[in-house]
Amino acid sequence: MLDKFRDECGVFGIFGHPEAANLTYLGLFALQHRGQESAGIAVADGGKIRVSRAMGQVADAFDEAALAKLPGHLAIGHTRYSTAGESKLENAQPFAIDCAHGQIAVAHNGNLVNARELRDDLVWSGSIFQTSSDTEVILHLYARSRASSVEDALVESIAQVRGAYSLALLTKNRLIAARDPNGFRPLALGRLGDSWIVCSETCALDLIGATYERDVEPGEIVVISDGGLRSIKPFPPQPLAHCVFEHVYFARPDSYVFGRSVNEVRSDLGRTLAREAPVPADVVVPIPDSGVCAAIGYAEEAGLPMKMGLIRNHYVGRTFIQPAQSIRHFSVKVKLNPVRSILEGKKVVLIDDSIVRGTTSRKIVKMVKAAGAKEVHLRISCPPTISPCYYGVDTPSRSELIAATHTIEEIRDFVEADSLAYLSLDGLRAAVGTAQGSYCTSCYTGVYPVAVPRNQRAYQQLALKVVE
Ligand code: SF4
Repeated sequence: MLDKFRDECGVFGIFGHPEAANLTYLGLFALQHRGQESAGIAVADGGKIRVSRAMGQVADAFDEAALAKLPGHLAIGHTRYSTAGESKLENAQPFAIDCAHGQIAVAHNGNLVNARELRDDLVWSGSIFQTSSDTEVILHLYARSRASSVEDALVESIAQVRGAYSLALLTKNRLIAARDPNGFRPLALGRLGDSWIVCSETCALDLIGATYERDVEPGEIVVISDGGLRSIKPFPPQPLAHCVFEHVYFARPDSYVFGRSVNEVRSDLGRTLAREAPVPADVVVPIPDSGVCAAIGYAEEAGLPMKMGLIRNHYVGRTFIQPAQSIRHFSVKVKLNPVRSILEGKKVVLIDDSIVRGTTSRKIVKMVKAAGAKEVHLRISCPPTISPCYYGVDTPSRSELIAATHTIEEIRDFVEADSLAYLSLDGLRAAVGTAQGSYCTSCYTGVYPVAVPRNQRAYQQLALKVVE
């Protein structure tokens, strides 16, 4: 598989629609890129919450018969990639419990940085955990709250967690959305007729014909019931820390996140990169799919043609059976194939959004050269990745990040490119713009906006499944 940071999770919720489960299913399709390990839907009909979860992608997890068993007018859904906790059905979301405050289901995008210490405390005081996911901590805190209302119990439980969370929660008659005070992960609010929708990215609104209203604000809890929408802001404001990597790589280019078009930002990253790191060349070639928007921007700014010199096979799953006799660079070749007629005899600017370990970049550069390229100039539309993420993105440990241990010239030498340049941190900040608030850039700086306890770092690094 390609050597990339793994997407986190996608959440979706809808209130006040007779086909709540069906629309959630469609919304999850639009959020499939945020997690492909498992999918789930919880639905309520005013009396009871029903949950259906399965391993695999949305299309595998649900069919008509499964959706028919999910009647109700409010629902939440989740697509998961395991950033903390193992990849198994018990960890698939939404999680649902029945407690003194009644039934509640939760779908979570992000990672809690104090999940380990909270979990240890809860276990010592008698809680029995069903999963290894940090999200379950929120439910235990909620169930133990002595507050007299659902909302107060939720505020009390959320007040104890730190880190990144964009949550969709469901009670028998309420849809609740909550976002951490730093606003790490996106969470949009939309409308479809009289129905309300919350979702990780606006592309899910587009698919079901809903309109974008606004973002759920950092630190805001939105409660939607038959009485309408109520907003509570129970927490003191914190410095904003929107995940800049949503713009660089995770979010779909047809989405708006943190108030900006992802496509526009990504093209701006490419334009800025072209100004910072120009090179005489014949053609700009993106590494698909994530390098395409930046390559368009780079090509426009550089006045060069942009051509699809690498074709991606979209039908390869996460695993495949390798032939007994080894084929050179098989794991990359099965995903990407070079177009010789575009590359042969050309000086190529190859655009990618990141280098993690460098092993995949090296294989791709070799593949482009083997297809006849005269020169390959690798350009990366973000700064060197030197530090892991603790806010909901699956990254390898620092020792495995090539930019943490090598100079740019050493990386160039390793990937065997004729030249290598990354976008500067200032260039990245200028391209994303700061009108909507500040961004987290910890994976490029090693400076973390929300402190991560040492034991949590070790715990999360152990929990991360590093896949290449
Ligand atoms: S560390 Fe990087 S990936 Fe993680 S939230 Fe910050 S910017 Fe995003």
